[in-house]
Amino acid sequence: MQVPEWCEYLKLRNVTKTFPGQDVPAVSNLSFDLDYGEILAFLGPSGCGKTTTLRLIAGFEHHHEGQICLAGRTVSSPDYSIPPEKRNVGIVFQDYALFPHLNVWENVRFSFNSKARKHNDTIKFMLSLVGLYDFRNRYPHELSGGQQQRLALARALAPRPKVLLLDEPFSNLDADLREQMRVEVKNILRATETTTIFVTHDQEEAFAFADKVGVLQNGKLEQFDTPEKIYHTPLTRFIADFVGEADFLPGTIVQAGVVETDLGLFPSYSKVPEGAEVEVMIRPDDVKILPGTEHTNGEILQRTFRGSINSYMVKLDGGTVLHSDQPSTLLFDTGTRVRVQLEVEHVVVFPRTNQESDRSHSYTPDVDMSLAGTKQVI
Ligand code: ATP
Repeated sequence: MQVPEWCEYLKLRNVTKTFPGQDVPAVSNLSFDLDYGEILAFLGPSGCGKTTTLRLIAGFEHHHEGQICLAGRTVSSPDYSIPPEKRNVGIVFQDYALFPHLNVWENVRFSFNSKARKHNDTIKFMLSLVGLYDFRNRYPHELSGGQQQRLALARALAPRPKVLLLDEPFSNLDADLREQMRVEVKNILRATETTTIFVTHDQEEAFAFADKVGVLQNGKLEQFDTPEKIYHTPLTRFIADFVGEADFLPGTIVQAGVVETDLGLFPSYSKVPEGAEVEVMIRPDDVKILPGTEHTNGEILQRTFRGSINSYMVKLDGGTVLHSDQPSTLLFDTGTRVRVQLEVEHVVVFPRTNQESDRSHSYTPDVDMSLAGTKQVI
C-alpha cells in the first residue's frame, strides 16, 4: 500500500468536550498529530478522558471547540460533523461485541453491510491474517478468548478503516495470553499499515505496543511522545510517578544544570535557578547497590523476588527510601549495610513543593536523547 503524501494523518486541534451538566471538561484543549501507520496509546488514570477522546474521533460524541481531521479532511468541528458510519473508523470494544448468532465468516462479512461476493477475498485474507480461516464456520462461543479478540480485529480491519480504535483491547485476557496477543496484534497492525489508537491503564502495554504515548490527566494531554522519552524525561511529576516506578530524592541546584543530593552531584535536565530546592526522579534501574563495610550510605529494608530481578527497598542514611532492581542472583539480607550509587548520565528534576502535575510549574527538560540510552557511574 502506498503511504499517503500528507503527514499528520490524524490531527486534533484544541478539542474540548464538556458533557451536559458538567462543570469540568472531560477533554480539554486536546491537540496532537499522528502519522499514517503509527500506533498511539492513551495512558492515564480512570476518568482522565481516554474513552471520550476515542468516541470523539469515532464521531459518537460531538465537541464544541476545536477540530478533528482524518486523512486530509475535517471530520468534525463545532458546526460540522461527519456521522460515525461515514468516517471509516474501525472500533474494537473491550468486550469485542461479536454477534453470537453469526459464525466467524459471517461476523467479518457483517462489517461490509452487504453480502456481495466481491468481499469474499478480503474476508478470506483477513481471517487468514488473524489465523482464523480454518475456524470460519465456528460461532463466537466456540472460540477461545484470544481467538475472539482476533476475530474482533479481523472484523474491524476488513473494511480497511482509516484509523482503528481499540478500547482496552487486552483487558479481558489473562496475563500470558495478553502478552502473546500484544505481539500478534501489533504484527497484524504493522502488516496492514493500520493507523491505530488504543487506550489502556497499563503502562507496560502502552510501551510494548505503541510508537507514541499520550499521557492524559483530568482531560488534559500532559505529554505526547515516544515511550522512551515518556519514561526517561517525563515533563511532569505526575507522569514520572504514574508511568513506571519512580522515587524522588531531595536535591538542591548548586549551579546551573547541576543538582546536589545525598548521593552526589549530577547534571540535570533543567534550567532551574541556582539555590532552588528540587526533587530528583530516580528509576529503580538507575540505583546500584554495592556490598561492603566501608563508605556505606544505606541499609537494605526489603527484598522482593520477581523472577528475573530482585527488587530491593533501600533506606539512605539521610532518610529517603529508594527502589533498586538488581539481578535475581544478587542477594542481600534485610538490614545489610550497603553503598548506594546512581548510574545515570543526567537526572530529571521537579520543584520540591510541587506534588501535582501542573505543567506550568514544571521545568522543561532540555534533553539530548542520544544520551538517554547510555549510563555511567557518577
Ligand atoms: P476509564 O479508564 O475509567 O474508562 P476514561 O479515562 O476512559 O476512564 P472517560 O470515560 O473518557 O474516562 O471519562 C472522562 C470524564 O467524563 C469522567 O469524569 C466521566 O465521568 C465523564 N463522562 C464520561 N461520559 C460521560 C457522560 N456521558 N456524561 C457525563 N459525564 C461523562
